[in-house]
Amino acid sequence: MNRVLSAEWVLPIEGPPIEAGAVVIEDGRIAAVGTAGDLGEGTRYDDAVIVPGFVNAHSHLEYAVYGGFGDGLGDFAQWIALHIQRKARIGWDEYVDVAKLGAAQCLASGVTTVGDCSYSGATAVACAELGLRATVYLEVFGSDSAQALEHFAAIRDRAADAFSTRVRPGVSPHAPYSVSIELYDACADLGLPIATHISESPAEVAYLLTGAGAWGGYKDLLVAPPGKTGTHLLAEHDLLGPNVVAAHCVVLDEDEIGLLASTNTGVAHCPRSNAALGCGVAPLAELRAAGVRVGVGTDSPASAPSFDFFEELRSVVLSARARAARPDVLSACEALELGTLGSARALGLDGEIGSLVQGKRADLAIVSLEGSSYLPWEDPAGALVFGGSPDRVIATYVDGEARYEKGGMDWQELTAAAHSARRAMLAQPAARPVAAPRA
Ligand SMILES: [Zn+2]
Repeated sequence: MNRVLSAEWVLPIEGPPIEAGAVVIEDGRIAAVGTAGDLGEGTRYDDAVIVPGFVNAHSHLEYAVYGGFGDGLGDFAQWIALHIQRKARIGWDEYVDVAKLGAAQCLASGVTTVGDCSYSGATAVACAELGLRATVYLEVFGSDSAQALEHFAAIRDRAADAFSTRVRPGVSPHAPYSVSIELYDACADLGLPIATHISESPAEVAYLLTGAGAWGGYKDLLVAPPGKTGTHLLAEHDLLGPNVVAAHCVVLDEDEIGLLASTNTGVAHCPRSNAALGCGVAPLAELRAAGVRVGVGTDSPASAPSFDFFEELRSVVLSARARAARPDVLSACEALELGTLGSARALGLDGEIGSLVQGKRADLAIVSLEGSSYLPWEDPAGALVFGGSPDRVIATYVDGEARYEKGGMDWQELTAAAHSARRAMLAQPAARPVAAPRA
């Protein structure tokens, strides 16, 4: 059965904005995109835009209640120790409760797909239950490949019933400082989509290059420094490629940008997380100029303040302009493209999602700009990026079904369950003092 949605603007991303536009949905896919005059009005939304659902290219839904954990800590070992200690205080059911809150917050923010790095596998269960599309990259750590793969198999089995065409499994060897090259190789042999963290901070790069710097005292927590950066290390071992998405990529030189481009590796740009952790500002303009497949990710409240994708898109624009000292280095429209089709490309899903094009999955968001300072309309993409917020999301559709409707989610139940997990994590005092102000 057909369903028609129409609004003052439809932003297909592939193709120009359509005034008084409409989208026809049939069997979970987009049957047509055009003007309401041609396709009918169906359900009409005034003062609103219809956009492809945002694609969050890097998240950790299981950390939805980690807000403020370790904020401002300058000591890496203390930061890690705090997270490990608190994480150990909750079990599987709590992981699922927290991930469900994270998935709901994503849907409420207009996000229809996540590329999520999952420590326990609970993300898969949460996404399956709430109808959020996901690639769930199950995380592995360490240098013992056999042990890590055993752990991977265990968490994949625990979440097995959740995997489907909408929720697909992947693997995430965490980072070149926490995973040996042998384990990276073993992960590649699994033949699954891969996510990893690369070149997040100057301290990471200094450690990998020389074993020195701020992380030099923590060799027992990390794998041995390889004497090269993560990008060079993975490239030399043939471990970059189109099935890999690398989060962060903040500290890169020209050679490394060239390697990411020539290997067609995806990059998840997470400007709020990078800023909050004091890592720097990624060279977005340079990555785009080199033709790298860049998408946008929120990371998680363990670093960025929230899963609010509008805030992330604004940060993409502002950080790019601040870094380049030029206002024309990135438009709101280009940022919107990065957060939809760009992220879909980074995750290797652009054949199915990321734009409103006939035949693709009907994943979309309807966002009202009613009463905002961006109306009457001048630039609908600019209005959405600068004036949008989760409060303004009227509905979020995945596979043609409304998975979120304003006022329709039982937030009380979702937050009560997740907050009791947070309470359990905070139940005992932290091993070390939290966030002493730095001189
Ligand atoms: Zn991450």
